[in-house]
Amino acid sequence: MTRLLEVTNLTKAYGSDKAADSISFDLAEGTSTALIGPNGAGKTTTLSMLAGLITPTSGSILFRGEPKPDIRASIGYLPQYPKFFPWLTALEFTEMAAVLSGVEKKQALTEAKKTLEFVGLGDAMKKRTGTFSGGMKQRLGLAQAIVHGPELLLLDEPVSALDPVGRRQVMNLLKELQQKTTILYSTHILNDAEEMTDQLLFLRKGVLVENGSLETIREKYANPHILIEFESVGEAERFSAISPWAVTMDKKQVSINAAEEGIGTPEILALLHTESLHIRKLELQTASLEEIFMKVVEE
Ligand code: ATP
Repeated sequence: MTRLLEVTNLTKAYGSDKAADSISFDLAEGTSTALIGPNGAGKTTTLSMLAGLITPTSGSILFRGEPKPDIRASIGYLPQYPKFFPWLTALEFTEMAAVLSGVEKKQALTEAKKTLEFVGLGDAMKKRTGTFSGGMKQRLGLAQAIVHGPELLLLDEPVSALDPVGRRQVMNLLKELQQKTTILYSTHILNDAEEMTDQLLFLRKGVLVENGSLETIREKYANPHILIEFESVGEAERFSAISPWAVTMDKKQVSINAAEEGIGTPEILALLHTESLHIRKLELQTASLEEIFMKVVEE
């Protein structure tokens, strides 16, 4: 896979505080990556450096191996709080964004119309942006970011401020865009990342603390436990006494750390069968995405 972006030891310091601290990662062309972290983790700082809005204190950013690409033409950027001129119509605004990003003047109107149709603002393109709802503004923000067909799309919290309907609509648009371009977006909602991500980058206090696919990270932090609920407390006690694995017992329930003990449900079922113990339920419990998020970013 072609490497589109190569980020090495990217750092932004404000006095003695580092908003981004030696961050390194690659983006392969055609992939989607989520930058995840709580408030203040350094997501906006990182995206702003990649978008050329703030200058890194140190470190390097290579775009297709080049240190100084034509950022306007190559990158589309949606800020966390996009601002529009309320007196311009959506079409005027998007056409202006197209021209500023290098689209030929005579082509800009056509591209702006096409893009506004794509983001679902076809019927509202002649309306002034000052009348737009939050969801419409976010879609317009997306339109100005993609109107020039950028190779890389940087999106800062594209759905965080939206209600569930708006969120769904924008997520669906992003999934379509994912087919055409490389995307790096920030979020503090892991469920968003689950829907649309090849790679997860976890930031904590400016430091990249975890980097991998959702499957790899899930596996690493899943912390699988097997929970057995017996018919009676007596049976739970009997099982605990003969169990070759460490158990924690709570009344009729017994829990075993499957990862630590290196076992799965078959070993347990075999023992239950041999000892003729009766159970009500047996389940494999793994950490939820939210639990994984807390574990990775708040340690
Ligand atoms: P949020 O989810 O709240 O948007 P974030 O992950 O995007 O958070 P950043 O906005 O990148 O976080 O901020 C990272 C840290 O850098 C914070 O502690 C913030 O206060 C600090 N910071 C950001 N910009 C500046 C600045 N211009 N001067 C001083 N400190 C700053």
